[in-house]
Amino acid sequence: MRIGIDLGGTKIEAIALDANTLAAARRRVATPRDYAGTLDTIVRLVAEIEAETGRAGSVGVGIPGVVSRTTGLVKNANSTWLIGRPLLADLEARLSRPVRVANDANCFTLSEAIDGAGQGFETVFGVILGTGVGGGIAIRQRIHEGPNQIAGEWGHNPLPWMTEEERRTAPECYCGKSGCVETFLSGPGFERDHALRSGAECSSQNIVRAAASGDADALRTLARYHDRLARALASVLNLLDPDVVVLGGGMSNLPDLPSSVAVALPRYVFSDTVLTRIAVNLHGDSSGVRGAAWLWPA
Ligand SMILES: [Zn+2]
Repeated sequence: MRIGIDLGGTKIEAIALDANTLAAARRRVATPRDYAGTLDTIVRLVAEIEAETGRAGSVGVGIPGVVSRTTGLVKNANSTWLIGRPLLADLEARLSRPVRVANDANCFTLSEAIDGAGQGFETVFGVILGTGVGGGIAIRQRIHEGPNQIAGEWGHNPLPWMTEEERRTAPECYCGKSGCVETFLSGPGFERDHALRSGAECSSQNIVRAAASGDADALRTLARYHDRLARALASVLNLLDPDVVVLGGGMSNLPDLPSSVAVALPRYVFSDTVLTRIAVNLHGDSSGVRGAAWLWPA
């Protein structure tokens, strides 16, 4: 049995997958906003799942960041109470077994590569379009992490082929640069762009609703989003040439996103035909926790 834990900023999810990758048990609780409480919660969830199923499991954990291979400490986490903590060593001590920890975007990508929208493809680029923009690379159903543990972090590349106006109004990013892909393609970036160009402050849902009823400003905001996503993905395709791009995160629910992006891609990719498939994820919110379970392969 494989136990996966998805340690999110607001909730911790746990799942146990049996040999047929069906969920044998599930839990979801609010994330304590301190380190000791987070450790206690993970240990308790594992104990509950093992009591419920009557079986011991391997444990994989997806986190919003990574455990540095050089220091053993968490870095790049937006759940700031994890930063600088020896999460992996503490979990292994508390759970009395080896544990694997990986970035949550990598867990998403692994899950979709194994039995999701990327199943059957050799190279999968998994994309998170949410509050932030992240990504991961799976090659033959294994995460490719890289020595800096940042493979797939395309959200902090600059938006390619910026227009004069985009360059002039490029937002500052929390990473210290400006004009990052994330500042345009995250949910907040989408809303900011709409407000900047139309003068109306709207939620993403309301922009989508307005576009569906034919609102010209909202339709233009969506069109800009499609074109920017195509530009940002084209730079990934030119480098990695993945077989499939799997879209995840809240913004992946924008209507007709894969087909709209597929139409725009050939304008930017260095190839007269683009055979890379653009797909929406299959497992939705469960992808992260499923991928965490799969950190221990068969
Ligand atoms: Zn950035």
